[in-house]
Amino acid sequence: MLDRYFKLGFFPTPIERLENLSKVFNGYNIFIKRDDLTGLATGGNKTRKLEYLLYDALNNGYDTVITAGAYQSNHCRQTAAACRKARLECYLVLGGEAEPEPDGNLLLDILLGANIHYTTRSRRGEKMDEIADGLRKQGKKVYIIPYGGSNATGMIGYVRAMVELKEQIDEMGIEFHYIFIPTSSGGTQSGMLLGEEITGLKSRIIGINIDKEETYGIPLEDYIMKLIEEGADKLRIKAHVSKEDVIVVREYDSAGYGVLTENERKAIKLLAETEGILLDPVYTGRGFFGMIDMLEKGMLEKGTNILFWHTGGTPAIFHYGKSLL
Ligand SMILES: *Cc1c(COP(=O)(O)O)cnc(C)c1O
Repeated sequence: MLDRYFKLGFFPTPIERLENLSKVFNGYNIFIKRDDLTGLATGGNKTRKLEYLLYDALNNGYDTVITAGAYQSNHCRQTAAACRKARLECYLVLGGEAEPEPDGNLLLDILLGANIHYTTRSRRGEKMDEIADGLRKQGKKVYIIPYGGSNATGMIGYVRAMVELKEQIDEMGIEFHYIFIPTSSGGTQSGMLLGEEITGLKSRIIGINIDKEETYGIPLEDYIMKLIEEGADKLRIKAHVSKEDVIVVREYDSAGYGVLTENERKAIKLLAETEGILLDPVYTGRGFFGMIDMLEKGMLEKGTNILFWHTGGTPAIFHYGKSLL
């Protein structure tokens, strides 16, 4: 099952020690894993999920993919690119309205030739089924990918990512006590937790919550547990992950999805100026801020190794533009 994927990215993604940042937070060894460098149309965490989703679509004879997201969705941009490589037709259902001067991810969606439906306020694919039905009436075989690519198929990408991490860790001869990720639709965190079970890794995975709204009407923790169970079924293993292992930190999401605050500005500036690495305003800026805030407040044990998992999002920088400064 883990080896049934359609290759879209360059793996393993690098891990580097953040020498300068580790000096700022004395007593901690801070590392970064660069999933912003997966290589698919500026990269990001959706590449790993799409390798499994598009394999499934191709293997079952679909010719068209539909997915959804926010107006600046990284998932949609990567899906548009992945569909080109797999020679599938791509439909995107985006929140917001058609823009006379598209930028950031939206610009790339258009460059990649995706068919775009704008749905103003809804950004989680509420209109997807209806649009998919219309496409089916035209004779297309439509494969629906939920927003964020987070279902039992997509999350397998992050199970495999943990196998990759285990190999890197063995080679480096270290362990990570904590892994920080921005968490939103749950595919990344659920895959990592199930991946820990398979690999025996024992890092505490700390998800910094990005989107304060519920996921399909339930708390994100519950949705993550559901994905872990479904993913385990697919892999024909038994999951022993308990709800206490699902750490979702909600301290930093109060401004709402995609709303830039001083927190994200501070995080983006700090990593740019210490290490020359770019974070994005929506996900990794917020996630990284959560990590440094917890370090500053002394909430993590001293002397530990900490991994920040960079999940991508680079193009959104060029949508937020000078508001980042
Ligand atoms: C989608 C996304 C996330 C969140 O991943 P989920 O699997 O949806 O929880 C984090 N960072 C970036 C840059 C993303 O695009």
